[in-house]
Amino acid sequence: MPWRRAFTNKNTLKMKFNILFAVSLLLTLPGILHAQYSTMEQWETLPRQLISKDSISHDGFTLIMANDDPAFNVATIKRIEALFFIIYPAEVSTFNPNAPKKVVLFIDTAFNTIAASAGHTTHINPPWLRQNPEDIDLVTHELMHLVQGYPNSHGTSPWLTEGIADYARYVFGINNGPANWAVPDYNSSQHYYDSYRVTARFLGWLEAHGYKGIVKKLDTAMREDTYNDDTWKKVTGKYVDELWREYAANQRSKNIRDPSKDDNHY
Ligand SMILES: [Zn+2]
Repeated sequence: MPWRRAFTNKNTLKMKFNILFAVSLLLTLPGILHAQYSTMEQWETLPRQLISKDSISHDGFTLIMANDDPAFNVATIKRIEALFFIIYPAEVSTFNPNAPKKVVLFIDTAFNTIAASAGHTTHINPPWLRQNPEDIDLVTHELMHLVQGYPNSHGTSPWLTEGIADYARYVFGINNGPANWAVPDYNSSQHYYDSYRVTARFLGWLEAHGYKGIVKKLDTAMREDTYNDDTWKKVTGKYVDELWREYAANQRSKNIRDPSKDDNHY
């Protein structure tokens, strides 16, 4: 989920709203929200009873890796730590060199959505990764939210916020295949604002078909709080609806030629 990167006292109320709003956005899974982390203090504070806490610094980045789940697989923690130092510096240098250099990844038994991010902290749901240990690139998605650091939390277009985060997972992810994670084939029921993987695939297609650099420009506009519908026109010369029609037409023609060639190759 997207969040403010830095918080000040005057932003506390807004931040509280942002946390509740962003956590509520995670409720694509039924019945999983409970009153948790309603303040930034709760969000950022690690509990006293941790099973493990590693602090690792490398090439200007520091990872605090915390875990309060005694049943969590240590090998998965080590894989996430390794992933962090591959993925996060790449996302930072590509999109936002001013993103936090110190990050907390917390395997958190008190957190019961899959994962969410705020400030410089990502909370991860232990059962999800215990049951889906190959899905470590969910951290790649969450780390992108820390890089995004949009001033309005979810931004004015949460579909794009999540689309960019999944685009980052698609581009930078190191274990998407074994996790059976892929961007979906185009079909006519989709729309660019479907968010997550559908939007990610659209962004990837744009990058590969004449609009290289568009994701970085959209991300920058979101962070600078200048993003609106006209941003697409300014960046590409076309509005997003026109670009989606271009994408859809291209994908339909590919499907007619050879549907088997359409699998995740934009
Ligand atoms: Zn997200």
